[in-house]
Amino acid sequence: MKNYLKMEIAAMGENESFARSAVAAFALFLNPSLSELSDIKTAVSEAVTNCIVHAYPEGLGIISMRCRILKDNVLDIVIKDRGVGIADIEQARRPAYTTGGADRSGMGFTIMESFMNDLEITSKAGKGTTVHMRRKLQ
Ligand code: ATP
Ligand code: MG
Repeated sequence: MKNYLKMEIAAMGENESFARSAVAAFALFLNPSLSELSDIKTAVSEAVTNCIVHAYPEGLGIISMRCRILKDNVLDIVIKDRGVGIADIEQARRPAYTTGGADRSGMGFTIMESFMNDLEITSKAGKGTTVHMRRKLQ
């Protein structure tokens, strides 16, 4: 069996740093450099923050997370919510696109994309969003 981490947290602001640290702690199995670790934490933070900020406008929801170690030192991360979903993913991925108003910059997906090797987003309106990211560690 391959090593993995699976967890579920409430989509609340105070859980963001916990989620980011949990993934970073798991990533230590891959002997990451400090900069690799920092990239992973940043990407996880953006994905989890999106679930907290956008997915559940009407009340408290759940964030499910899964991390796996794949061959060739690849960290595989899935962050999933069962919230409102994203109607147009291509549009949402565009730099500076936001539905969040003045306090958001619309850069979350762009940041995830630049810090990870692979970013896949699947979503269904009313059903939720899944962000699947991969990063190869040197
Ligand atoms: P920033 O991340 O810079 O604070 P942002 O969150 O608006 O701003 P992105 O993270 O790039 O920017 O997300 C773009 C848009 O995609 C969001 O404004 C929101 O409309 C939508 N979105 C992202 N994640 C989710 C999600 N989990 N559920 C529902 N909508 C989402
Ligand atoms: Mg965001």
